[in-house]
Amino acid sequence: MKLGDLGEFGLISRIAAEVSAVEGVITGIGDDAAVTALTPGMQLLTSTDMLLEGVHFRHSWHDPYRLGRKSLAVSISDIAAMGAVPRWALLSLAIPAGCSLEVVDEFTKGFLAMAAEHGVALVGGDTCASRNGLVISVTIMGEQRPELIVRRCGACPGDDIWVTGTLGDAALALSLLEGGGGKVNMDDNGIFTHTSPPSCQRSGSEFLLSRLLNPTPRTKSGRMLAEAGLVTAMIDVSDGLLADFGHIAELSGVGGTLHLDALPTSGAFRTVSGKLSSFPHQMVLAGGEDYELCFTAHPERREKIAEIMKICGIGATPVGIVTKFPGVTVLQSDGSPYELTTSGFNHFI
Ligand code: ADP
Ligand code: MG
Repeated sequence: MKLGDLGEFGLISRIAAEVSAVEGVITGIGDDAAVTALTPGMQLLTSTDMLLEGVHFRHSWHDPYRLGRKSLAVSISDIAAMGAVPRWALLSLAIPAGCSLEVVDEFTKGFLAMAAEHGVALVGGDTCASRNGLVISVTIMGEQRPELIVRRCGACPGDDIWVTGTLGDAALALSLLEGGGGKVNMDDNGIFTHTSPPSCQRSGSEFLLSRLLNPTPRTKSGRMLAEAGLVTAMIDVSDGLLADFGHIAELSGVGGTLHLDALPTSGAFRTVSGKLSSFPHQMVLAGGEDYELCFTAHPERREKIAEIMKICGIGATPVGIVTKFPGVTVLQSDGSPYELTTSGFNHFI
């Protein structure tokens, strides 16, 4: 069967058939608007993201299942960064008429698997034909008690600057794919596999690729840190630490000093980057798409933060200090400033 045989409404029904009933969803896919019940006392948080073929993904690198996962993961990450609980999503798709049904099915499977893992219900969307590549738009809604929502604007001078997990993995994976052109193949049974380029067949590369192609939103960490009242500001690291901490600094009316040596990298990052002529600090500081959390907290909160991160099963590292004066400086181990050539990803530049 092809997309053309199904038509718009057949495709919507096909997606709807995979969605299971979820508590709190009063009317899901099928009516003019979804009806959902916000938990009493909570406020609604809403965010939307677009993913465009050729800009955010390539079919030759992103297999449809992981693309479906990632499409929702990046939106869930925004809700996590506010310390809120993701609840409902809308999925809008502009699909080229020639796109195979297997691709759409795998995409939907991945999207709904990510949704189930994070307690999100798909409650609607829009579907149309595209004349120019696949366009994915995801709107996410979450909820949290008003006093627990963490914004970008609360950082105070003297706060520690923290990041969860590791940085630079996705940027290094992207450079491996760009260098060697990894490829997604579909066999006769509609099963997709990712063939790694020779540059990606070293140990650690698979981990790096999964960080780029299949990111994990830090839902539990974001929520627990917020609910424990430990953090003053938070953001997810989608455009690189320097750019994203820069947003916290700007909105909080502060600055920051980051310590180059303190920035956490994965073993895979160090192994694979060890083959390069010099350590790619640039990727760690300004590489995008790691979807970790960057947050600020009073130094007295260190122990409590470590306890929470232990429960969440991921690391968090203090990487610098919030300063009273604006501007973000990166210091090397000898105390001298590190000069950057780029601060992070920025469309139109
Ligand atoms: P309308 O004509 O009112 O815009 P549609 O025919 O576009 O309605 O959509 C019918 C129903 O299917 C709505 O509930 C809509 O939210 C849902 N829907 C459409 N596309 C998708 C999609 N890609 N994923 C999930 N739900 C969808
Ligand atoms: Mg519509």
